[in-house]
Amino acid sequence: MLELRATCENCNKARPPDSIDARLCTYECTFCADCVENVLYNVCPNCGGGFVPRPIRPAKNWHGDNFLGKDPASTTIKHRPVDPVRHAVFSAPIKNIPPEKR
Ligand SMILES: [Zn+2]
Ligand SMILES: [Zn+2]
Repeated sequence: MLELRATCENCNKARPPDSIDARLCTYECTFCADCVENVLYNVCPNCGGGFVPRPIRPAKNWHGDNFLGKDPASTTIKHRPVDPVRHAVFSAPIKNIPPEKR
């Protein structure tokens, strides 16, 4: 099951489960859209992959107990701010390659 992380790993802003601007990579590294665009250049600092919008887990029990009430968001804070200078170097050879070609 997808771990709905509580905050942006870079800026630590809260990203509750109904956030429409939470982004994640395939390893569930979670950032806000602003950091993905303006700090990370769509390059995950942990794996080099791209990001997609995080899906919203339903708040209501529409079907079979598959909802936030039974499977709540994570409360663990992962705050590992990116050094913008180091990330610029890391992302330079990657950012112009579309994620599906990396
Ligand atoms: Zn952020
Ligand atoms: Zn990643």
